[in-house]
Amino acid sequence: MGKQSFVYVRSKEYAWVPAIQTDTDGKKATVQIPAFKDEQSIDSDGCRGKKTEEKVDLKGYVGNVLPLQNVDGQGMLIEIPDMVELPYLHEAGILYNLKRRHRDGKPYTRTGDIVIAINPFQWFTEIYTDAVRTRYSNKLVWTDSGETDPRTFVDPHVYETSSLCYKGLAFYQTDQSILVSGESGAGKTETVKIAMNHMASVQRGPVEASSNPEEKFEDPVVNRVLQSNPLLETFGNAKTTRNDNSSRFGKYTQLQFDCLEIVPGNIDRTKSRCHLGGSKCEAYLLEKNRVTGHTEPERTYHVFYQILAAPDDQKASFWSGLKGSTFDSFKYVGATSTTKIEKRTDAEWFEGTCETLSLINLGGDKLIALMRAITAVLQCGNLAFGALGGDADKSECTSKDVLAGLSDILGVAEPELNLAFTERTMKTRNETYKVPLNAETAKNSCDAFAKEVYGKLFLWLVEGINEATKAENNYSRADGQDPGEFGIIGLLDIFGFESFVINRFEQLCINYANEKLQQKFTEDIFRSVQLEYEAEGIELAEITFDDNTDVLDLIEGRTGLCAMLNEECVRPKGSDEAFVQKALGANKKSPCLLVNNMDRMGFGIHHYAGKVMYSAQFFVERNQDTLPTDLEDAMMKSSNFIVAHKPAPAADAGKAPKRQKSNIVGSTIWAKYKTQLASLMGSLRKTQSRYIRCLKPNKAKVPVKMEHIGTVEQLRCAGVVAAVTISRSAFPNKLPNDTVRLRFSGFWDKAAYPAASSDLKDECFAMMTCALKEKAEGDKVAFAVGKTKTYFRSGALEYLEANRAAG
Ligand code: ATP
Ligand code: MG
Repeated sequence: MGKQSFVYVRSKEYAWVPAIQTDTDGKKATVQIPAFKDEQSIDSDGCRGKKTEEKVDLKGYVGNVLPLQNVDGQGMLIEIPDMVELPYLHEAGILYNLKRRHRDGKPYTRTGDIVIAINPFQWFTEIYTDAVRTRYSNKLVWTDSGETDPRTFVDPHVYETSSLCYKGLAFYQTDQSILVSGESGAGKTETVKIAMNHMASVQRGPVEASSNPEEKFEDPVVNRVLQSNPLLETFGNAKTTRNDNSSRFGKYTQLQFDCLEIVPGNIDRTKSRCHLGGSKCEAYLLEKNRVTGHTEPERTYHVFYQILAAPDDQKASFWSGLKGSTFDSFKYVGATSTTKIEKRTDAEWFEGTCETLSLINLGGDKLIALMRAITAVLQCGNLAFGALGGDADKSECTSKDVLAGLSDILGVAEPELNLAFTERTMKTRNETYKVPLNAETAKNSCDAFAKEVYGKLFLWLVEGINEATKAENNYSRADGQDPGEFGIIGLLDIFGFESFVINRFEQLCINYANEKLQQKFTEDIFRSVQLEYEAEGIELAEITFDDNTDVLDLIEGRTGLCAMLNEECVRPKGSDEAFVQKALGANKKSPCLLVNNMDRMGFGIHHYAGKVMYSAQFFVERNQDTLPTDLEDAMMKSSNFIVAHKPAPAADAGKAPKRQKSNIVGSTIWAKYKTQLASLMGSLRKTQSRYIRCLKPNKAKVPVKMEHIGTVEQLRCAGVVAAVTISRSAFPNKLPNDTVRLRFSGFWDKAAYPAASSDLKDECFAMMTCALKEKAEGDKVAFAVGKTKTYFRSGALEYLEANRAAG
């Protein structure tokens, strides 16, 4: 009979369950699993209650039985704010720690430098008050904490990350970034707003907390910067099944700070200050398809509902045809059962939208033009097409009133619009001719027009916001001096890893971005482990980790998927199937490419977060971003300056990629996106990055509940488990030296193993040499003693604990 111990046992239904191991022969373990009512009751029951006995095979992925040490005397699980302190930091330990904290109303937990945020689906207003904000900035920014890690005296919070960013910029002059990730509905957008709000308040310096939790910022620039978030959400967010306010675009916002009175290396906390001078943001991959189609209960972009919910006279001031209209009046919008988003009606939201537009200098004529452009999109949805004069190959617009309305809104004559939708101009070297389109193609071309108009107005809005918020335009020092270059704190709110039943071009783009970020994440974690060992004066032991270079090669390499697809888009008769077959042929050796024998248009990628099968149907079409010239010309003729607007090239996106073969390659969605991502990664690499991983605890979006399987999957996708593996690969456990002395001095035969000095470090070294002599393998000792901590190789700490308990 072996010694009884608490363990986690792998479970199909619940991922991991706590149990008691009563025996093991090294291959199988006998465990007693408590009877659980349901998932929710598991951790509160701990390991007590009626149990069933099972034999568990010990082999398998990360083992099927993991040690469980964070229990109290009664076998109840205890929770810890910083998971690095869990004696056994593994997937099961992380899951149960997060679950307990989530249940107790603590949404934030740390794993070393990473903050994990579990969406509480209820607002704990008491943790976001001005007093709390001030406490974090006073403790983490404005207090000189000397050698002690300030995090030991504050609970994990987004404010911790924002404080550390501000401090890094203000006192160490290093640009910063916060990378927020997680699946849809996990809380990324809210987290970014919470962090931004905090950073805007830190600059007040060490202050007493104001008693007003709803404090408004008086500085107009700060106000504009903060208000630009809900404004972008109005145009770029929509209700989906997974989130009532789902961002349908990625966003990188750079807060620009004027760093005043900062003398490098000479931190004067009473004088040094970084002042928020403005912000710039870049948007990625707006989901334009949503403009022309969505299925209940999802909705299209909020702004459509808002404008239609506005008072009639206001609607009429945008366009007379809007008077008396409802959601049902427009096909792209249609009926919706949603009446409120975040407790506010669409009409209430619209008031705010108009106010914010004015605040960022987009009121008056600009506001009218914007609303008219939106109305034009709505109107496109109602256009109908039918055969022209009985010829099914030709078509005309059959809804004359709607066409007249659209013509009125856009300021383009009806016949011109009709022809733009129903004909396509073809150009060869020698001639230009027109090809008629049938009714279905004409309708598609009208949808493409609507999507393009919406895409344009969205970009126009982003440009407008940037003009009104960027420090270069809006900030000046009180003394008139030139502020020079601004310090940056970047915030990335980008779509998390996606894997659906059917995965399309958009999922590949999204997962590509996640692979890039994952690469940076692993590099950063690796570097921080390296730095920790250096600071502790420990020789860098072998650290092994899986990097994802293979996947990135497969996607963006010379003969990778991106290159193959772009080539297929240039070929006159390029097809989805040909793309897949060529890509499979060219990447036969890639260990990450999966072949789908059942489907010639299918292929798969073994991503860092798991295997995803893609369907290449429409890849060629979706990758092409070239609007037929007929539609483009119609837009350019519009009297609406937003519709006729040519967007400024996004940062660096104007640069043609190297080895470009034709104009089209440079203008495919993927080519642009790749350039945009490369530029994003370039900006991020200039900063010190900090990570917040958001998790969605349940699909029903309800408080308290935590679904195990879904949470564990997200932990893997967020790279949390990988991060833990890297940081623990050489020395899985560590303890502060004073704890080591306190706990294990019983092992020390001082006469046989005298310490080199009475220094704590030397004593720990002598003590561990004595205690762990049996665990040494040849000249490889089982531990390393650093300046403040002792590090243990796999099994060493367990051995010490077991023998201490036995003794
Ligand atoms: P998507 O990828 O779809 O844009 P997201 O990760 O940005 O999703 P959010 O929109 O930030 O998710 O959050 C979804 C919802 O969860 C919010 O509308 C809000 O109701 C709730 N929520 C998020 N964060 C918090 C929080 N800290 N406290 C309380 N509720 C929250
Ligand atoms: Mg979002």
